[in-house]
Amino acid sequence: MKIEVDADRVAREIDALAAITDAEPPAVTRVVFTEQDLRARAWLKERCAEAGLAIREDAVGNTFIRWEGSRPDLAAVATGSHIDAIPNAGKFDGVVGVLGGLEAIRALRRIGFEPERSIELIQFTAEEPTRFGVGCIGSRLLAGVLGPEADEALRGSDEQTLRAARTSAGFAGDLASVRLPQGYYSAFVELHIEQGPILEREGIAIGVVTNIVGPASFFITLEGRGGHAGGVLMPERHDALCAAAEMIVRIEELAKVSGSVDTVATVGICEVHPGAINSIPSRVKLGGDLRDTDGKRRDRVLAEIKAAAERIAQQRQIQITTQMLNADDPAASLPQVLEAIERGCEEEELRSRRIVARAYHDSSFMAQIAPMAMIFIPCRGGVSHRPDEYASLEHIVGGVKVLARTLAELSHAH
Ligand SMILES: [Zn+2]
Repeated sequence: MKIEVDADRVAREIDALAAITDAEPPAVTRVVFTEQDLRARAWLKERCAEAGLAIREDAVGNTFIRWEGSRPDLAAVATGSHIDAIPNAGKFDGVVGVLGGLEAIRALRRIGFEPERSIELIQFTAEEPTRFGVGCIGSRLLAGVLGPEADEALRGSDEQTLRAARTSAGFAGDLASVRLPQGYYSAFVELHIEQGPILEREGIAIGVVTNIVGPASFFITLEGRGGHAGGVLMPERHDALCAAAEMIVRIEELAKVSGSVDTVATVGICEVHPGAINSIPSRVKLGGDLRDTDGKRRDRVLAEIKAAAERIAQQRQIQITTQMLNADDPAASLPQVLEAIERGCEEEELRSRRIVARAYHDSSFMAQIAPMAMIFIPCRGGVSHRPDEYASLEHIVGGVKVLARTLAELSHAH
């Protein structure tokens, strides 16, 4: 079997999709359910219809593009990713997995391959959290990680509920109907740019993702006592920012001594009140992110962070409250999918290595209902979520070929 990819068309299609943007090109801004998002979806559906594929959409706008196999009674094998983009992003994040998935199907059809299981390409709604503050809305709902209460509970930056936003975008129906049962897909595989520097640095064409980290995020609010920077003497102070400084350093330490380099912690928000040079900080709000490939280890570090907060509060006689924003499970790839990818790399004579995915992906949630693995390709400098994000056409083509072979193997009935 020789897979041939129409590289010129893939490049043209990536550019065409990138031109549908709310930002000044080359920057791409495409927020879910905006006019540009709807234009991009319409454009994608035209390409799929041209390829003779069947299209279905669910109540939240997840789009399923289906190539019917000879055994439609069997669970289909699926691939896919997202086409929404954060403000001032690049043109490859997500898009490579959607347009690459489409080209993988076209490449298999071109050589007359006939799948037994049907092959579906999924375009997931709102992988990026830009509008609703939570990402992977489409795949969370598919997997049942998010329930139909999200319809009213999720509010956009414009205060519109998910229900209002999706309905005005033309996606009606009961949100509960989005959920798919266990076993609906026999396997799921997502092609994506690495968004990190490892593959490029090591000169490797394909990363075979073994694990996707489980992220947790939280706010820590510290309430001390404010006062005049001159009038209150040091023994009388309950400075919220000094306590926050101790807290930040402690969070860093706890991640470092977890026993694994896969534990990473970041405090990315520090809001100081009242924020005046001659006023003792009375209140500080920290926003933190903690990720790990091992959910138990992450939760242990989280518990240690909370214990540290209690200790610091007691020592400094201030109040500290912790508010969890989210804690998602890590996901592990399954050998059947991993090994199919690795065989695809061998057949294409592309060097591969196993790698950990450290960002959110729809695959994290698809892993809850189907055996999952991901295919990473290098991106220049590891840069992503920026207009200068770049993946070479050669690497994209390599990824599409490996994806096509993986889908072909997984589509066998056995
Ligand atoms: Zn992405």
